Amino acid sequence: VRKIKIGIVGYGNLGRGVESAIAQNDDLTIVGVFTRRAPDQLQLLNTDIPIIPYDDILQYKEKVDVLILCGGSKDDLPKQGPNLAAHFNTVDSFDTHAKIPEYFEAVDASAKPNGKTAVISVGWDPGLFSLNRLFGEAILPEGATYTFWGKGLSQGHSDAVRRIEGVKGAVQYTIPVEEAVDKVRSGKLPELTTREKHTRECYVVLEEGAVAKTVEQAIKTMPDYFADYDTTVHFITEDELSRNHSAMPHGGFVIRSGKTGESNNQVMEYSLKLESNPEFTSSVLVAYARAAYRLNERGDTGAKTVFDIAPGLLSPKSPSALRKEIL
Ligand code: NAP
Repeated sequence: VRKIKIGIVGYGNLGRGVESAIAQNDDLTIVGVFTRRAPDQLQLLNTDIPIIPYDDILQYKEKVDVLILCGGSKDDLPKQGPNLAAHFNTVDSFDTHAKIPEYFEAVDASAKPNGKTAVISVGWDPGLFSLNRLFGEAILPEGATYTFWGKGLSQGHSDAVRRIEGVKGAVQYTIPVEEAVDKVRSGKLPELTTREKHTRECYVVLEEGAVAKTVEQAIKTMPDYFADYDTTVHFITEDELSRNHSAMPHGGFVIRSGKTGESNNQVMEYSLKLESNPEFTSSVLVAYARAAYRLNERGDTGAKTVFDIAPGLLSPKSPSALRKEIL
């Protein structure tokens, strides 16, 4: 059988994760990695895969079935997403939640008139968590949905700490408060404040001469990022940072708690425990690339989200095999 031909756009954490995820899927093959950097700056896991300058990407229009966009949500995808969806089927993990509606419109306006299919905001949140929030709301209309994240490394919060004067290096972990999770699981439908749901823990390496108390104060009072949370700050050495805090674990739970009938409590829970957030996210992107290809083959074009895609399209198995084996 003919393999689905994938192009990887951008080679950071997700790009590398997509490369290794595709190696686990026999029906997919990698055409090349497209990068804005000089190709000799990249070190691929499989050195047989071509590294191609991003500026040459349009020469690959007929050679690629689906591009998996692995750029950053802040600066890369807002441009690359709409630009590339005019020429290719695409899948991306755009995760700036507040801007998803406008991003969807921009990608749709580009994909639709050109007969391309573009699946946006794929991953675990947005992505698999979003699907589980939808299942919860649709199945238990009388109830409440709770999302807890962690324990996990938050890239955005780590970056915010690194921007503080006197900080040489830092990571930030988001931790769900166990009592809050237990209350939700018990079906009590608690009302929880931001502070009651998560705590934040920072590991910071100081620049020489920086004052620990001042840096700690700057972190704990930072609006939006830390002010509404109980935050613990640990000062460590550069060596400890690279030795103990280089992994990118994450995860969390989506819990829907509701009542049916007279007064029966029903609790739905979906949980992820990830040793590598980027490798998992990439694995989700790869499954949705298969769906994007199949949708386009049947003429279903324009921008899509996880809500629009039937689960069977993610699987390499045929619909009849799925009915027989796992229904
Ligand atoms: P990243 O490692 O920072 O990579 C982003 C881009 O930066 C790459 O595509 C690459 O493009 C460039 N780059 C990477 N390493 C570089 C280096 N050493 N020097 C210069 N440029 C470099 O970001 P990521 O961890 O892969 O994450 C990408 C996005 O995924 C994030 O912004 C996040 O929003 C999203 N995400 C979503 C979910 C979800 O559940 N939906 C989960 C995790 C992440 P070039 O190769 O073209 O230079």
